[in-house]
Amino acid sequence: MASVEPRRTKIVATLGPVSSSLEVIRALVEAGVDAFRLNFSYGERAEHERLAGFVREVRAETERPLALIGDLQGPKIRLGEIDSPRILKVGERVVLAVEEKASADELPLAPAAAVSALEPGHEVLIDDGSVRLRVESVSRGRAVCAVLEGGEVDSHKGVNLPGVPLAIPSLTEKDLSDLELALELEFDYVALSFVRAAADVTALRELIAGRRSNAAVMAKIEMPQAIEALEEIIAAADAVIVARGDLGVEVGQVAVPLLQKRIIAASLEQARPVITATQMLESMVSSPEPTRAETSDIANAILDGSSALLLSAETAIGAHPLEAVRIMDEIARAVEPSLGYRHRLPRPGEQATVGQAISNAACDVAELLQAKAILAPTFSGRTSAALARLRPQRPIIALSHNRHILRRLALEWGVIPLEIPSCPNVDTLWRRSIEAARSHGLVERGDRLVITGGTAVNVADSTNVIKVEEIL
Ligand code: PEP
Repeated sequence: MASVEPRRTKIVATLGPVSSSLEVIRALVEAGVDAFRLNFSYGERAEHERLAGFVREVRAETERPLALIGDLQGPKIRLGEIDSPRILKVGERVVLAVEEKASADELPLAPAAAVSALEPGHEVLIDDGSVRLRVESVSRGRAVCAVLEGGEVDSHKGVNLPGVPLAIPSLTEKDLSDLELALELEFDYVALSFVRAAADVTALRELIAGRRSNAAVMAKIEMPQAIEALEEIIAAADAVIVARGDLGVEVGQVAVPLLQKRIIAASLEQARPVITATQMLESMVSSPEPTRAETSDIANAILDGSSALLLSAETAIGAHPLEAVRIMDEIARAVEPSLGYRHRLPRPGEQATVGQAISNAACDVAELLQAKAILAPTFSGRTSAALARLRPQRPIIALSHNRHILRRLALEWGVIPLEIPSCPNVDTLWRRSIEAARSHGLVERGDRLVITGGTAVNVADSTNVIKVEEIL
């Protein structure tokens, strides 16, 4: 018997203290996780090595191409060491100073370039905006600020300076060392935080290429500058994260829902997988049930076109990591039948590639024939991405001998990545593709399939054929 309908929207879980054992990682995969994120803002090298080892182990046990994402901290601005937490009151004046030079009554800020960038009128948001300051005057490495919103401030709290142009590199010393580790451990994606321009993404890609790694680059959209350069950043990246946490602090949280829709639409336009992130099931960090608002938020993120959804604190430090994954899975399955197939006609003046045209037609054929699945033997993963972008109702089964590509496709909407041996010619490739789909219980005798791919085997961007097969 063929299995139940596969879930199309992928689930990414962040690993942390509550999910740092082999048993929990295995259980998360059983509950429906497709990819894991390691957040390099936390944890030591040995812990990252251990967790990546567990994911590799579960991959081998389950034969599932689970993707590993390494999330670089990026040029995060933070308070330095403060002797004891300090309460700031509205109307009070407080001085921000370069970390190394701050006196005991001043607030230390790092990196130094953040202090030099400040000018009167700039806003300084501390701890996700819970404390708000406005710069009144600046002189010699110090900024005198008025407290607009008071509260407690403590060592190492995050700081956002919305719209302030910062002359700091997109990759810090820490990022470069974390990147080395991520590449050593063969992470599939490296996510870059606080991307401001396409050049930030390109610089990371060049470093990765210089290490002869296959890791793909993910751009986290969380800065106003990234919104201004959105299309170029998406074009430069392999995947995108709608990083709603910092984005909400930077642009104000009421702007996030429409920006989420815009980032997702722009990513879909360029056939890049797009992950919606942060506070999706925040209440489940302590409660076993989501709120109605969270359920609606997840449903809407799926209806907006997200390829994947990310759990952060829920699976890293929450009390109910498995329940959070199960609920997300359940919501996705309930909502996905309402997603429309995005039959796409070229815009005036747009020249589609052969691959795009064939993918469009393959989806049409599959929909018209109510095929059981679309099979996409793929060398580079691009055929599957072009198919996924159209959000066909039929599952897309991507078949490849290239494990890197299969793990990348773990994040692609509606794609079930399956490994097949390398094939010498197209007839063998198609036969083995059908055999693989069948042996995994995804298709059975009597099913109709649409196969699309290239007649030139093992050549990227060679998609030129659509074939309809009936399984005998
Ligand atoms: C975010 O800010 O929403 C985000 C995903 O980044 P992080 O979890 O690294 O803060």
